[in-house]
Amino acid sequence: MRHRLAAGNWKMHGLAADLAEIDALLAAHPAPACEVVVCPPATLLSRLAARLDRTPYMAGGQDCHAAPKGAHTGDIAAAMLADAGASFVILGPSERRADHGETSALVAAKARAARAAGLTPILCLGETEAERDAGRTLEVLSAQLAESLPDGSDAALVLAYEPVWAIGSGRTPTPAQIAEAHGHLRSQLARHLGAGPAQAVRLLYGGSVKPENAAAIFAVPEVDGALVGGASLKAAEFGAIIAALGAAA
Ligand code: PEP
Repeated sequence: MRHRLAAGNWKMHGLAADLAEIDALLAAHPAPACEVVVCPPATLLSRLAARLDRTPYMAGGQDCHAAPKGAHTGDIAAAMLADAGASFVILGPSERRADHGETSALVAAKARAARAAGLTPILCLGETEAERDAGRTLEVLSAQLAESLPDGSDAALVLAYEPVWAIGSGRTPTPAQIAEAHGHLRSQLARHLGAGPAQAVRLLYGGSVKPENAAAIFAVPEVDGALVGGASLKAAEFGAIIAALGAAA
């Protein structure tokens, strides 16, 4: 039995005053029927974690360095995220792959560092629009998964299928396209981890999840939750998505 998970990715949004959205979320949904993790910018992580203390909500980071520490100006080690109160860390989202040239091999190294620090990696992968149009979606997902999984991986990770063309665009794949991608990832996980551990890995969908489309997405087989960008910034929207996921559980 996999616990459903709603993960909010605030990306480079949020000042201290925006933590009022978290207060509103906690007030409206004090006991969600699914797991919820909020990943704010690193500057807000410890303040967010303090607010989430003694609640069912969890905090996460948005990236970590592959090294445990060192001379890496501006970077954040996984142990620092854990020390600030994070339980999860998002790794390999398309924006970091595009803006920072992150390869799947680097994502695997970061996932290894995250695990060593006790964090659960949320590994992101997904095809571009050109790759989908060329009929290469499943091949691309297979390769990204094979290269992004750290050696010796077990079920202590979360995968997020995020078609690049759906992120922040307002466009979403059809339920059949999501089902195909998630079914493929599940079978590829079984090849890498073995059938038992593969069944325990949560597969999130990410890309323009909104209150309006959440229930339909959560009804798709093999969708265990969502990685939510823009809609996670507002308590009313993220709360509605959390409620839809709880109702689907
Ligand atoms: C994301 O950041 O992972 C994401 C899916 O963004 P959005 O929900 O805004 O498309």
